[in-house]
Amino acid sequence: MSDLRELYQEVILDHSKSPRNNRVPAGAEERIDGHNPLCGDRITLGVHFDGDVIRDIGFEGSGCAISMASASTMTEAVKGCTRDEAHALFHKFHELVTGKDREPDLDALGKLAVFAGVSEYPMRVKCATLCWHTLESAMAGKHDKVTTE
Ligand code: ZN
Repeated sequence: MSDLRELYQEVILDHSKSPRNNRVPAGAEERIDGHNPLCGDRITLGVHFDGDVIRDIGFEGSGCAISMASASTMTEAVKGCTRDEAHALFHKFHELVTGKDREPDLDALGKLAVFAGVSEYPMRVKCATLCWHTLESAMAGKHDKVTTE
């Protein structure tokens, strides 16, 4: 498990240093701000829908390594997903980082599995889920600012 942990940390560091999809896409119908006051993480998430499908997604923001890496890996994971698929992925991710799922489906989670260690640090759960809560709001067409409080 320790090798796996090191690999997970490397992936998180890589994504926090070089975030993917680190821009609000042109033509994004939804543009939502999210804030985690506990840690000071802030993101602006932009989503371009094509019917029910997330055709393009990106974010800008600043915060801790977990929050930035989570937003980066999330944008990669949900691009091309339908709203239902993205909801289902968030559900699996939430169970993973809160430790509710003791035998997480790592295949279904793909790269998101690197956040498994967050379940040992409850303070960090909001860092990891800020971007997902913001995405949920964007998918629901809500325009209020999202806060984890
Ligand atoms: Zn944070």
